[in-house]
Amino acid sequence: MKTTRRKFIFTATSASLGALAALLAVSARAAKPDGKQAGLVVIPERKVPVLAEADVLVCGGGTAGITAACSAARHGAKVILIERWPCLGGMGTAALVNGWHRSDREKVVINGLVEEAAERARKRGWIEQVKNFPKAFETHWFDPEGMKVVYQDMLDESGVRTFCYLVAGEPIVEGGKIRGVTVETKEGTRAILARIVIDATGDGDVAAKAGLPFEYGRAGDSLVQGMTMMFRLSDVAPDIVNSHPKDADRVFRLMKRLRDEGKFVPFNEGAAYSYLHSARAPDVSYNMCPVAGNPLHEEELTQLTAKARRQVHQYVELWRKEMPGFKDAKVVQTGSSLGIRESRRVRGLKTLDAQMVVKAVKHSDAIGHGVWMIDIHDPKGSGHTTWTEQKPETMVPVGQSYHIPLGMCLNATMPNLAVVGRCASSTHEGHSSVRVQTHCMVMGQGVGTCAALALGTGVDMARFDVCKLQAQLRQDGVYLEDVPHKEM
Ligand SMILES: Cc1cc2nc3c(=O)[nH]c(=O)nc-3n(C[C@H](O)[C@H](O)[C@H](O)COP(=O)(O)OP(=O)(O)OC[C@H]3O[C@@H](n4cnc5c(N)ncnc54)[C@H](O)[C@@H]3O)c2cc1C
Repeated sequence: MKTTRRKFIFTATSASLGALAALLAVSARAAKPDGKQAGLVVIPERKVPVLAEADVLVCGGGTAGITAACSAARHGAKVILIERWPCLGGMGTAALVNGWHRSDREKVVINGLVEEAAERARKRGWIEQVKNFPKAFETHWFDPEGMKVVYQDMLDESGVRTFCYLVAGEPIVEGGKIRGVTVETKEGTRAILARIVIDATGDGDVAAKAGLPFEYGRAGDSLVQGMTMMFRLSDVAPDIVNSHPKDADRVFRLMKRLRDEGKFVPFNEGAAYSYLHSARAPDVSYNMCPVAGNPLHEEELTQLTAKARRQVHQYVELWRKEMPGFKDAKVVQTGSSLGIRESRRVRGLKTLDAQMVVKAVKHSDAIGHGVWMIDIHDPKGSGHTTWTEQKPETMVPVGQSYHIPLGMCLNATMPNLAVVGRCASSTHEGHSSVRVQTHCMVMGQGVGTCAALALGTGVDMARFDVCKLQAQLRQDGVYLEDVPHKEM
């Protein structure tokens, strides 16, 4: 078949490959905690054809990557987005994570592209506002299948050139700047080049391989938050479930007893209690199946994914037997990926921490607002989460929100590489708040807009006039209030 691929040949320099080798060693330490290596091979320097070129290359098509790509394209940049999976939306679609948080429990403070995606989904019947909106923690439930279409429409209509089925491989680094990444196509290794690269991989793959420093896990034992296999059941009878609170209490106690005796698998107690006591519809997503481990270790992740799928069937077998309303329940879907909350957090110019979250701190370089609490799922996989306790010291006060600063997405090392989404710069605790989808979308929109405007004026993103960026974001529907002129 004839292709229109350009003939330009890119040669990886020994400098960039040398830097890569050193930096790969850093990321490998986090990825392979056992430190075992099966040996080393030498890959000779080679010429790699360029597959495509753009102003902005976004690596990763989760919520953060989608909004980064759309906003950069809408502000005039030629944008390419590459995504390793066959759909867009990341954890929100592939892992079935279908809840959004947009409100400070008095008013909605997250709009912009989040509102646009919600509006598109609303028109097709793919999103549902929660009953006591906006006073609830959750604001919307959406259909992950529908959202795949919404996100693709937004990218296509913005003029973004999107490639699914492509993994961002090695960063191509020259003279302290990133020039693009390699990708493995069916025809061999290719390069995609750009003036600005945005790492939206969730795991900070590009930034880590390019040598940016990153944190991994919590202080003390370096464990990251627990993971969850989301699943969907069909044929649940909500009326029956909702009218049997005593059975729900009994089954919940039974689950806990069996688990404590080592005869049953772990589960998220707060979530399981709620699912047993109130069913919203015959077919919803369940968020209660915990596992723990290293999400950067592919073999371990494979085993954890399989383990979690086995756990799901154990819950359902027990509920079908014991709980009225679940007699006919069937597992119709598990996440095509295990739900991963946390891996690398790439160190930026600013690091969002717990105090910035719970004290609703404002920043001069704000690109939007965050509302979610410190929400840590037990890194050892018990299923316990700080969300269930809702201690005052972990909560953002009602009616208040914190600023998401641009500085958490930019870094001091590589001026044309930004990081958005759950891998942006934060502490383990700050991350547990800012990792939620709407907050990642705010980051994506802020950085994508900044990238396009900075390219237009020929300055680095960190040097672009932040007041102009904020004015543009407001014009684009982003909620942004009370930006202090000086840091607080
Ligand atoms: C079980 C669970 C429950 C959660 N509950 C909620 C909730 O109720 N509400 C909420 O808002 N948030 C929730 N979250 C958090 C939220 O889903 C994620 O933190 C958020 O979706 C992260 O978005 P992201 O775009 O940064 O990363 P991701 O969604 O992880 O997207 C990254 C994308 O990059 C792609 N990618 C990765 N590496 C590469 C590569 N090298 N090359 C190309 N592509 C790559 C991935 O395939 C993926 O599509 C939950 C998370 C989990 C796991």
